Amino acid sequence: ADVLADYRRHVGAGAAALAEALALPVEARSEGAYLWDTAGRRYLQCGGYGVFILGHRPAPVVAALHRQLDRHPMSGRLLLSAELAEAAAALVAVTPDGLERVYFGCTGAEAVETALKLARANGRRRIVAMTGGFHGKTLGALSVTDRMSFRVPFKPLLPDVERVPYGDVDALRATLRDGPPACVIVEPVQGEGGVRIPPDGYLAATRDVTAEHGALLVVDEIQTGLGRLGRWWGWPDDAGTPDLLLVGKALGGGCVPVSAVLSTAEVFRPLDRNPRLHTSTFSGYPLGMAAVTATLRHLQAAAIPDRAASLGRALLAGVREAAMRAAEGVVRDVRGRGLLVGVELARPEQAAAFTAALVGNGVLPTSSLGADTVVRLCPPAVLDDADLDTLIRACAAAFAAL
Ligand code: PLP
Repeated sequence: ADVLADYRRHVGAGAAALAEALALPVEARSEGAYLWDTAGRRYLQCGGYGVFILGHRPAPVVAALHRQLDRHPMSGRLLLSAELAEAAAALVAVTPDGLERVYFGCTGAEAVETALKLARANGRRRIVAMTGGFHGKTLGALSVTDRMSFRVPFKPLLPDVERVPYGDVDALRATLRDGPPACVIVEPVQGEGGVRIPPDGYLAATRDVTAEHGALLVVDEIQTGLGRLGRWWGWPDDAGTPDLLLVGKALGGGCVPVSAVLSTAEVFRPLDRNPRLHTSTFSGYPLGMAAVTATLRHLQAAAIPDRAASLGRALLAGVREAAMRAAEGVVRDVRGRGLLVGVELARPEQAAAFTAALVGNGVLPTSSLGADTVVRLCPPAVLDDADLDTLIRACAAAFAAL
């Protein structure tokens, strides 16, 4: 089959043109930290927007999915679901104290939509979002995403959305001081925004300021949660409890789509009173729930957050050293937390060239293919020393080619 021709005809000419320009191969199969193309070449997986913290097809998740598929993959939604109850309890058990209720969805954007609706149902009409923030591309989520090129064709978006500089708690305080009660949405580290790490103390101060002004705090951990930053959550342990916490991406073990909104009992009250206020056909589907429970158990049993922390330290040091092979002025910065590492190039074309060179050297990054200057490395926490060495060597070769 001519995949590129079908892309051109049915998937989209733009996607086909990009793939053709960069000579991107076709995926064939995947296992652990690696993916193979149809020509049999092997690539180290550092992409997928952070979905693969457990690697591809982690055995305990695959086994749980097989069992569930053979027994009862999809709910009729009238009766109770033991899988949903078990997954909800398992997720609450690993989240910050005070978050007791869970609503499951499929995508990250769906979790964001649900959180914004819960904020509205709690009388928070105003929404404060951050510069550089990314929360998805459905209309509500796009309203809090800060990227002009994604937003402009779809205006008008949600009203009453204000934006304050990420990392600036004084600006947040000044905005919250005036006007009606708000909901504030923030990422612990901005992933799509280019691996932006806020100043120390910023997140805790955000909790203090929102509480002071009666604002609800929504923490978007869709990219940062479940071990990616070298800890269970990017949200600091000593920063108090968010009102809502959003999870996605890795929650389905890199196998099936699942997202979740975790909520305090107080903020969840509108849905307690009327469960039909927000529903979705696939919310809490048994196959996804089996993946959630198995994923959380596996994250715990294999101490994945700790593993991500030690691997992340070695990766950051290695990529920083490798960046010295690049020509003067090409690499602006290499920064990261855990296994979320961002390489900032001086120009978008250099980011595209770096991406292409990485793919050529057998590494798949998370990249906008030259639409911005930061290329991300989000490898699984299942790398061994040889994999890490392969990754750092590939980066060095890609830097040297710039
Ligand atoms: N929130 C954050 C922080 C994200 O990084 C993303 C996706 O990259 C989303 C929300 C949207 O998730 P999805 O693409 O699954 O809708």
